[in-house]
Amino acid sequence: MSTRRQFMKLSAAAAAGCMLQPSREALAGDMPKLAEDDPTAVAMKYVHDASKVDPASRTNPAPEQNCANCALIQGADGDEWRPCPIFPGKAVAAAGWCSVWAPKA
Ligand code: SF4
Repeated sequence: MSTRRQFMKLSAAAAAGCMLQPSREALAGDMPKLAEDDPTAVAMKYVHDASKVDPASRTNPAPEQNCANCALIQGADGDEWRPCPIFPGKAVAAAGWCSVWAPKA
């Protein structure tokens, strides 16, 4: 996937997530955990354990990718499960990963 296409997808998903979840950024505790077999999770290649992802399969080659160091993660640093606008209403594992991963600025 091109960087531009990935950016557009990421931007659209983030915008949708913000509209759907305007005030729940830090409330992962009451969210259900995203299942790896959730259709959206499958489409985004989400896994709970980023260490199981073959780095060669990633579009973005940056090392040590996981949800906790992704630009899109929300909630509080240190929490095991945190909100992500790509999966509105579900919490993702801080140690997880999906194909939308982007580095923090
Ligand atoms: Fe969300 Fe994790 Fe994917 Fe980043 S890598 S977009 S935090 S699920």
